Amino acid sequence: MENSTYDIDKYRRDFPILSRQLFGKPMVYLDNTATTQTPRRVVDAITEMYFTHKANVHRGVHTLSLEATELMEEARRLTASYINASSTEEIIFTRGTTEAINLVASSYGSLLKEGDEVILSVMEHHSNIVPWQLLRDRIGIKLKVIPMTSTWELDMEEYRRMLNPRVKMVAVTHVSNVLGTVNPVGEIISLAHNHGAAVLIDGAQAIAHLPIDVRALDADFYAFSAHKMYGPCGVGILYGKKHLLESMPPYQGGGEMIHKVNFAHTEYAALPYKFEAGTPDFVDIAAFREALGYIRSIGIENIAEHEERLLRYTTERMKLLPRVRIYGEAPVKSAVISFLVEGAHHYDTGMLLDKQAVAVRTGHHCAQPLMESLGITGTVRASFGLYNTFEECDRFIAALTRILTML
Ligand code: PLP
Repeated sequence: MENSTYDIDKYRRDFPILSRQLFGKPMVYLDNTATTQTPRRVVDAITEMYFTHKANVHRGVHTLSLEATELMEEARRLTASYINASSTEEIIFTRGTTEAINLVASSYGSLLKEGDEVILSVMEHHSNIVPWQLLRDRIGIKLKVIPMTSTWELDMEEYRRMLNPRVKMVAVTHVSNVLGTVNPVGEIISLAHNHGAAVLIDGAQAIAHLPIDVRALDADFYAFSAHKMYGPCGVGILYGKKHLLESMPPYQGGGEMIHKVNFAHTEYAALPYKFEAGTPDFVDIAAFREALGYIRSIGIENIAEHEERLLRYTTERMKLLPRVRIYGEAPVKSAVISFLVEGAHHYDTGMLLDKQAVAVRTGHHCAQPLMESLGITGTVRASFGLYNTFEECDRFIAALTRILTML
């Protein structure tokens, strides 16, 4: 089953938390969509920042400050190279995907006018819905929503019909955090561009599972979070095309984002600092270098292949179980399995799995409009990461089988 070059035992040893026991059993962590675990080298880098290099960045002439600045800026260079951005000016550090999307909705959004249209999809996470609703309430834009087909894919015919010269922005998720559907973002972007609309891709669920090349995609904006890619909490990334970022007003005002201030007038700093008001989370940003290095050392293609095998293996076994219904079986799918046990509340299933040391997520997964369209209130969601094993899949299936006899 396992590709012999994929050294899973070695990778697992990089994550101390994976050796935890719960209720006397080895923990099976299948909540990677919510957050991934953190390898030792990332945590070591955080410690090293605090113990060796901690000083505020960008405005110091002393050695410590120059070191901290260099480590933060190295993270920016590595991020730009990881997603193939043209330059580090196109990489804005935020607190997470949520803040990155809010930045675009607020700043790029302020250039829109009443009656302009923004297209979202039914699969969006609340963080790619609510910022656009705030904009709608502020300036009167119209929101339109791409529906889903019976094959759990975005309805591209409907999307084509929605496009018109009033559409100024298309904001869609690359991978659904509930269904695992991998959306055809390249096609979505090129169709939007044909109609003069910009495109923001929510990459939160794609970045640790697929190779991402923002220039090949021709994405205008691409947002993701470090904590979902084996990195530290509190760091997000907004990629934006330079000419668009240059045309946009600042999102927040304060220190770091200015060139010159007097009471009559402020000149803003150049990119990317124009969008990074206040002291950034330079400790975690610097440590993010190690997460990028870690993924690179294994290879994102190898990770994707491993997760694809886990997905197929687990899905096949789940389909043999009676009374289990999977939500999300798109032909191109990431390693996320949402499901319900007939007659059982998702919380009960999740709690019973937890008692067997299997960590899954339950609820609406911050995608209530999607739940509503499916006529359900939530699902149980098992999601996989680079360190999950086939044996863990077996333990998950065994735990679920046991639950079926209980419920
Ligand atoms: N978008 C998607 C598709 C997500 O799955 C998530 C988190 O689960 C987010 C956005 C929000 O990410 P964060 O909470 O890191 O800002």
